[in-house]
Amino acid sequence: MGENLSTREVIEELSRQENKAKRNAAENSEDRKEKRAPRQRRRVCPFCMEKDEAKRPLYIDYKDPRLKKYVSEGGKIFPRRQTGLCAAHQRELARAVKVAKSMGLL
Ligand SMILES: [Zn+2]
Repeated sequence: MGENLSTREVIEELSRQENKAKRNAAENSEDRKEKRAPRQRRRVCPFCMEKDEAKRPLYIDYKDPRLKKYVSEGGKIFPRRQTGLCAAHQRELARAVKVAKSMGLL
């Protein structure tokens, strides 16, 4: 019985130390974050910013020169976290890129 108790105590102590280490790591990473320049919080989909597209807010032309920005050299479309597009425009971008590729524009 006594042995069991001490084992549990050891385990508790270990987990306590682990938590402490985790907390320290978290604090350290926060410190690093604070030192770094604050990241731009504003992240608006550039296609949604278009004023003229109010009539057809979703359409992206396959001839749009901006398409190139969203496609890697291997022809892959960048994921949304990199393009910063909204879901609807990311889908539309994928469609436009497909058309552009079939036309040999990309
Ligand atoms: Zn959008």
